[in-house]
Amino acid sequence: MSFAGLRPDKKSATEKRSGVNVKLRALTTPLRYLHGVGPKRAAQLETFGLKTIGDLLYHLPFRYEDRRQIKKIAAAIRGEEASFVGRLAALQRKYVPHRRSQMLLGVLQDDTGVIDLIWYRAPKFLSDGLAKGQTLLIYGKVESGMYGRLRVVHPDFEVVDNPDEQLQRIVPVYVHPAGLSLSRLRGWVAQALREYRDFLLDGVPEEILKRQDLIAPSEALAYLHEPPLNADLGPLNRSSSMAHRTIIFDELFYLQLGLGMRKRLRSRSPAIPWGPARTTLRERMLALLPFKLTGAQERVLGEIERDLAGGAPMQRLLQGDVGSGKTMVAWLASLTVIDHGHQAIWMAPTEILAEQHYRNLQKYADRLDISAVLLTAATPAKERTSILKRIAGGDISFIVGTHALIQEQVHAPLMGLGVVDEQHRFGVMQRLSLQRLIGPGELVSTPQPHMLLMSATPIPRSLAMVLYGDMEVSFIDELPPGRTRVQTRVFNERERRQVYAVVLDELKRGHQAFVVLPLVEASEQLQQVRDATRMAEQMRKTLFKDFGLGLVHGRLKAEERDRIMRAFRDGALKLLVATTVVEVGVDIPNATVMVVEHAERFGLAQLHQLRGRVGRGAAAGYCLLVNRGPVSGLAAERLRAIEREHDGFKIAEADLRLRGPGELLGARQSGLADLHFANLARGGRLLAAARREALAWLERDPELTSKASADMKAILRHR
Ligand code: ADP
Ligand code: MG
Repeated sequence: MSFAGLRPDKKSATEKRSGVNVKLRALTTPLRYLHGVGPKRAAQLETFGLKTIGDLLYHLPFRYEDRRQIKKIAAAIRGEEASFVGRLAALQRKYVPHRRSQMLLGVLQDDTGVIDLIWYRAPKFLSDGLAKGQTLLIYGKVESGMYGRLRVVHPDFEVVDNPDEQLQRIVPVYVHPAGLSLSRLRGWVAQALREYRDFLLDGVPEEILKRQDLIAPSEALAYLHEPPLNADLGPLNRSSSMAHRTIIFDELFYLQLGLGMRKRLRSRSPAIPWGPARTTLRERMLALLPFKLTGAQERVLGEIERDLAGGAPMQRLLQGDVGSGKTMVAWLASLTVIDHGHQAIWMAPTEILAEQHYRNLQKYADRLDISAVLLTAATPAKERTSILKRIAGGDISFIVGTHALIQEQVHAPLMGLGVVDEQHRFGVMQRLSLQRLIGPGELVSTPQPHMLLMSATPIPRSLAMVLYGDMEVSFIDELPPGRTRVQTRVFNERERRQVYAVVLDELKRGHQAFVVLPLVEASEQLQQVRDATRMAEQMRKTLFKDFGLGLVHGRLKAEERDRIMRAFRDGALKLLVATTVVEVGVDIPNATVMVVEHAERFGLAQLHQLRGRVGRGAAAGYCLLVNRGPVSGLAAERLRAIEREHDGFKIAEADLRLRGPGELLGARQSGLADLHFANLARGGRLLAAARREALAWLERDPELTSKASADMKAILRHR
């Protein structure tokens, strides 16, 4: 959580309430006021994301070192991390010209022997702190040095001033800025904890803590920064201690309170007025359909219809595996809206997806006498002007587009439904902008269109409820009948020849194939683009010389990427090498093979989504995962799970358990960005509990007006 932007609450009335405000204010104290942190250090910490005392106190250790045992030097074992206490018997400073830095050589001695200490790069503050004759507590990995002597390189150390001091500890390890030593940061955290401990917030009601088997959040924080000697290191290092769970719960609880209140607010604003249906579009459409809706589609449609008929604007997330038939559900919902004289507006993240929806649905629109348009950045200016006019005049009922919809001056006074496909590709503001195409006005008093958001990222129910706690969530958990599973197999690096033989085979049969490389950080992108380009060149010259090959990578412009994707969709290219997100929703029935290189770097849910892109036609689909990591171990085991499991939600559950929500969703996905600790949650239990408790609390006290809720309101406002 961030304490930035705190505004003191002027209206504080009760003593308790002012108590919380005093605390909040204390926690927003800028770090430069902490003893030992000057303006320069403070600036350094700020670029690192730590601005206030609160930020520092909520900066949790990511692991712990066990220094409860202090070893005798004679008992040092090569390769082991250990603590020693001794006298600094020698200290030598050496200037290393080519590194333009100072090197430090020390000898530590206790009553059993000596060990060397080496700092290859010793900044001034470090070197200045050391002097021959001092007693030091050092910690580090024992290595063999020259002449058979043992040494510790870059040991962590502290000077022991008082020989009676309790030296055995569990020591927290923090992520720290490059120019600042860990021990400094650790010292500041300890100091902040001493001085501000009384200002830590305990915002979760005691009855809830008790029920959930948690401790007071203030105690939890203190415990995490300074674990007692008898603490169990296992759970601490796995972020699953009771203290961890408390902090995670605290954050989730407030998230849910906020989302829950937002949802209540929306349920009080009016939806567009709804008269009786004029015709029977829905029935006519169902008669045109070449298939029967699945049970899940029927059920979800029922949920949507109930929302549409209600007085409040719908805000519903529709979750379903790739190919589960979300489009048809959204289309049928659109027909209901259109039948009532309103407009349905669909927004997709790329031109190619918008085109695909338009092409697929336009033919139905034609048969049902519904006027439809496609609006993207590629729409010629003259045409666009006339389209905008017809939308504003209410002459067009079905509109499909891209971001262009919210960038242009589209005004859709009759907008009844907004549909956002691949909703995670859009930000909250973009989704809101779509809703606002209906026109300006206060959200709570002006009638609002209904919103349907679609996503093919399988997210476990528990997580979806938490992330999207201000919406209703529907799940399509059934695929249309007759789908064959994509045959999935993991190969190791040495078996790659076999993998590409399968690809070649499929291409010779007239099918198409994807080769996917992992997404990388922007800093690695250039190198990857080079590698991928070289690989594509190689493939063009050798094995695949008879087939058109396209390469899309992270550095391409959107138009260029769309151009290549279209060429692949239309069959001009047979093999697509991609280092970037291949649109999940793009339907290329002729694609039958997907190779994923470095599959070990992908999340399971991601892999599952990827393989959903092949085998969409009549022919069998293959997903060939190349594991370039170790052939055994956890990662390899994880990969094997995907050979067996084909249910996206089950796979997502496993991912959540193994890697936490952040990894599951991928760094690029928003939603969790503002959460610091929730990502430490493993599995859905804590997520669900936080939601349940928050909603129950709001049930009893919807506006947080009770005395017991007074603190909450203040805390909520600041988080
Ligand atoms: P997604 O959920 O990924 O958006 P789509 O809506 O694109 O899935 O559907 C995938 C394919 O399945 C489409 O070709 C669609 O026409 C077809 N489809 C949808 N519903 C059914 C159904 N009930 N029975 C058979 N095929 C269906
Ligand atoms: Mg889709």
